[in-house]
Amino acid sequence: MHTADPELAALVDAEERLQADTLRLIPSENYVSAAVLEATGTVLQNKYSEGYPGRRYYEGQQNIDLVETLAVERAKALFGVEHANVQPYSGSPANLAAYLAFASPGDTVLGMSLPMGGHLTHGWGVSATGTWFNGVQYGVRADTGRIDFDEVRDLALKERPKIIFCGGTAVPRTIDFAAFGEIAREAGAVLVADIAHIAGLVAGGAHPSPVPHADVVATTTHKTLRGPRGALLMSRAAHAKAIDKAVFPGLQGGPHNHTTAAIAVALREASAPSFRDYAHAVVANAKALAEALLARGFDLVSGGTDNHLVLIDLTSKEVPGKVAAKALDRAGIVVNYNTVPFDPRKPFDPSGIRIGTPSLTSRGLGTADMPKVAEWIDRGVRAAGTGDEAALAGIRKEVAELMAAHPAPGLPLPR
Ligand SMILES: *Cc1c(COP(=O)(O)O)cnc(C)c1O
Repeated sequence: MHTADPELAALVDAEERLQADTLRLIPSENYVSAAVLEATGTVLQNKYSEGYPGRRYYEGQQNIDLVETLAVERAKALFGVEHANVQPYSGSPANLAAYLAFASPGDTVLGMSLPMGGHLTHGWGVSATGTWFNGVQYGVRADTGRIDFDEVRDLALKERPKIIFCGGTAVPRTIDFAAFGEIAREAGAVLVADIAHIAGLVAGGAHPSPVPHADVVATTTHKTLRGPRGALLMSRAAHAKAIDKAVFPGLQGGPHNHTTAAIAVALREASAPSFRDYAHAVVANAKALAEALLARGFDLVSGGTDNHLVLIDLTSKEVPGKVAAKALDRAGIVVNYNTVPFDPRKPFDPSGIRIGTPSLTSRGLGTADMPKVAEWIDRGVRAAGTGDEAALAGIRKEVAELMAAHPAPGLPLPR
C-alpha cells in the first residue's frame, strides 16, 4: 500500500498513531485483535456468495460455505441460540431485516426514543424505520433515569405494535429482558433485543442474556464483542426462515465473506475464558470510573452504571457537551457529545458526553487507573470552560505516556 498509494497509506499510518496515542472512550468502539484484522484483509473479499451455505447462486463456494458455517455454528454456541444469520452488513441493516421479517410498511413498532438512549433504527423519525413505519417511543423516568416499564406496558397494550425493540446506544443500566418479554407476549408483539452495545458483555457473562426472553436477538459484531464491522441476527428455529429470507434476498446481495471470516475469528476469541475476564473487567472499570467521576462532582444519568457505559450530564458544570467533547479531543481523550434524557438543548449541541471502557480495557487498563482517567476528564472539562489550551496540551502528554505503557491489540499494523 505504501508503494501503490502513498497518499492513502499516510492517512492510515496517521490513524494508527492516533488510535495508539489517545485514550479512546467512545463506548461503541474497540480495538480488534491482529487475527481479526488479518481476516478482514483476506482474499475472501474477492468472492460473490449470494445465498446461504449449500444454497448459493454462484459456484466456487467450496471454502466460503465452510467459513460461513463456522461463523454460524460459533455464534449459536456462544449465545446459546437455535439460529444465527451472520450476513447483515452492519447493525442498522440487521434491524431493517427484522422489520422486513415481522412487519409491513405503516405498521406500528415500539422502541426507545433516540434522545432517551435508543437507536435511530428503533423507529426514530429521521430513520427509514420511523418514516416507513409508525414508530411509537418509550423513554426513561425523569427521577431515576431508568426505563419506565409502566409506560412501556401502557404503550404496548394501547398501540399493539408488531415489534418491540429493547436495547440502546446510551443505556448505562442492565436491560430487563424478562420484563420486556412479558410485555411483548401480553401485547402479541415480536420482541427484538438489540444488544449491539453489550453483546460482548452478554457473551462474557457480564450482562444477563436476552435469549430466553426475546424472539430475535440483533447485534453488531464490532462493539464490545470486539469483532469486525458487521452484525448477527439470532433467533429460535421457528423464525429462522423469516430472518434468512429478509436478509437475503429481502434486503441484501452478496455477503461480505472477509467480514464473515473475521466474525468467526472474533467469536472464537469471545468463547475463550480470557474473554469472560475481559467482559467483567470492562464493567468493573466502568463502575470505578463512574465512582471517581461522582467523587469529582459530575452528574451521571441514572447515578452510575451497570455496564460499559457512563452518560455524563454536564449541565451543572456549565460546559455544553460539544464544547467539552472537542476540548477533550484536543487533550487526547476521545468521547462523543450526547443528549441526556429530557435534554433542554438540541441534539447537535446537547448537554452530555457519553464515555465507555471497552477500548481502554482491551489495552489492559484496570480499576486502579480509573481515578486518573476521571481526573483527566475533570481537568479537561474545566479547561474547556476556561479555554485553557495549555492545560489540554498537558493532559495530552500524560495520556500519551500512559497509552505507550499499554499497547493496543492489533497495533502496530504488520508491514
Ligand atoms: C450501533 C448500534 C446499531 C447500529 O449499528 P451500525 O453498525 O452502526 O449500523 C444498532 N443498534 C444499536 C443499539 C446500536 O448501538
